[in-house]
Amino acid sequence: MNVIENYLKEEEWIGIDLDKTLAYYDEWKGIEHIGKPIKPMVDILLDYINKGIKVKIFTARVHEPKSIPYIKKWLKDNNLPDLEITNVKDFSMKILYDDRCVQVEPNTGKLIIYPSRYTNIYNY
Ligand SMILES: [Mg+2]
Repeated sequence: MNVIENYLKEEEWIGIDLDKTLAYYDEWKGIEHIGKPIKPMVDILLDYINKGIKVKIFTARVHEPKSIPYIKKWLKDNNLPDLEITNVKDFSMKILYDDRCVQVEPNTGKLIIYPSRYTNIYNY
């Protein structure tokens, strides 16, 4: 785990995206369908939880609030904690894991990783 665990305050949290990050996704199959868990991300999530760090599921699905019970069920079915689910970033969000993110070096505009998705954006 990286250095963040040494300076996170109690109210601060880590966001983890759902589709294509924590759960396998190939195509939309309906609000009730969420893919199988992706083990390396599950391990990261559980590592944070075991260290007492707050994690939220960060997903555009909650744009439709009726999706929340399906996400809660998916967490339960996969033996994951009953985490808060949101699509809202706030000042307490310290890290976001997301397949769509492009990381930018603070205050410089420099890209830390040039994303391959720029060349295959229509796959999203
Ligand atoms: Mg995603």
